[in-house]
Order: sequence, then C-alpha cells, then structure tokens
Amino acid sequence: MTKQKVVIITGGGRGIGAATATLFADNGYAICINYKNNSQAAESLAERIKDKGGKCITVQADVSCEQDVERLFTTVDIELGQLSILINNAGILKQQSRLEQMNAQRINEILINNVTSYFICSREAVKRMSTKNGGLGGVIVNVSSGAARSGSPNEYIDYAASKGAIDTLTKGLSLEVADEGIRVNCVRPGLIHTDMHADGGEPDRIERLKDLIPLKRGGFPIEVAEAIFWLASEKSSFSTGNFLDLAGGL
Ligand code: NAP
Repeated sequence: MTKQKVVIITGGGRGIGAATATLFADNGYAICINYKNNSQAAESLAERIKDKGGKCITVQADVSCEQDVERLFTTVDIELGQLSILINNAGILKQQSRLEQMNAQRINEILINNVTSYFICSREAVKRMSTKNGGLGGVIVNVSSGAARSGSPNEYIDYAASKGAIDTLTKGLSLEVADEGIRVNCVRPGLIHTDMHADGGEPDRIERLKDLIPLKRGGFPIEVAEAIFWLASEKSSFSTGNFLDLAGGL
C-alpha cells in the first residue's frame, strides 16, 4: 500500500481552505486543518471528514506568529508524519477604505497575516521537504488573489499589495528550491463566495460586481480547491513558479 500523503492547509476551517481540505481528504490524503479563532468551524469540518473515514487533525495556530507556526509543523511531524504538501491559504481583509484612511497598524496587520505567515510556513515546509536536507520533496501552493493584478483601488490596496508579495514569493521560492524536489505554484482567485467580503464591510460585494465578471457570477470555493488540488498533484508535475487565475475571465 502506498503511504498516505500529508497536507497542511492553513486557514482550513472555512471558505476556500475548507473546500480544499475536504477535496484532499476525499482523495485519500491525511490532512491538517489549521485555524486561528473559529474552532467550531474547524472541528465540525474535521468530524465530517472523519465520519467519511478520512484522516484529519486540527491545529489552532496563528500563522502570523513564528512560534505558533513551529508548533503547527512539529505537531504534524508527530501526529501525521512526513509533510508532502503545504497550502498557504489563511488570509485577512480589512474594512474597505482609501489609502488616506489607513494607518500603519492596519497595514502591518495585513502584511504579517498575509505575507510573513506564508514566508514562515514555507520555510518550515522547505526544511522538511528539501532533498538537500534528506527530505522527499514536496509541493507548496500559495493562495494569492486577482487583487495582486487589479490593485483594488478604493477598497484595499494594502490587501492587494500583500497578494503581490505572494506572487513574488511564489516566483522566487520556486526557483530557489526547484532542484531540491519542491514545486511552488500559485492560484489567484477572483470574487469567490466566502465570508471574507463581510470582513471588508460588504457581504454582498459579489452581487454588486458580478456584471463586471465575463462569466457573470462569482466563483465557489470548490472551483478554487480543484485548481489547488491539481497544482499539488503529480498531474502538474512539470509546473513550478506558475499562476492559475480563477476569476471568471475578470
Ligand atoms: P475566509 O472564509 O475569511 O477564511 C479565512 C481563513 O483564514 C479562516 O479559516 C481563518 O481562520 C484563517 N486565518 C486568518 N488569519 C489567520 C491566521 N493568522 N492564522 C491562521 N488562520 C488564519 O476567507 P477565504 O475567502 O476562504 O480566503 C482564503 C484565501 O483566499 C485568503 O488568502 C484570501 O486572501 C484568498 N482569496 C479570497 C478571495 C475571495 O473572494 N473570497 C479572492 C481572492 C483570494 P478562522 O476560521 O479561525 O477565523
């Protein structure tokens, strides 16, 4: 029997992360659902996965905190074994506003949650996956955003810039570890139906903007999860440093 591959999904309790966790579990991967605050969402998802016979743990950890990230990865080492795949998905958004209304505290909060977190989680993954360290290789998939290309003027250019940094991380890290058995790819979702838009102060944002989308609708978390799954699988074995836009043509 082939060994079950181990996957960490940061922010895996809700939204795109939850759809991704479910898809990996349904395909026989052992998964770690990381969450920060919403233990109820993470635990009930884990219960549903286990009820179907899936292997799954939940780990509370704030991925913007270096010590929490180290604890997250060590827990996975102990409870699930050798890490194969990291999905950097956890992210935050703040109230829509123009730059004139943004203070340094807000901007730093966006950057530490959306950028520093991806860097330190990737660092822990590379340590474990790199063939240079005796690892077996692996895959990292970063969840960026179409905002990296649009810049999100008048809404949240701080968030957009944080996602621009993720695109650069993807490119740079993919080249840095390409000969160490590790592929690094990225998805850039457009408007996807999740709770995130409420955090920006406009739960019905997709309704307002859907006519601008060539496909005339928002996307669903599973439609992003399928792309993440492909990029993490052997089916995309010659793909690294690549970006998959999932924005209905926007
Ligand atoms: P969501 O429904 O708001 O879920 C966000 C998840 O991130 C939650 O599980 C949350 O944990 C977790 N999280 C946030 N900060 C964290 C931290 N410091 N440590 C650990 N977990 C943390 O958002 P979503 O729409 O699924 O977003 C997932 C990713 O897709 C994000 O990177 C987002 O930027 C990106 N994205 C979303 C859209 C969209 O339209 N929805 C578009 C483009 C890109 P708790 O459950 O514990 O709160």
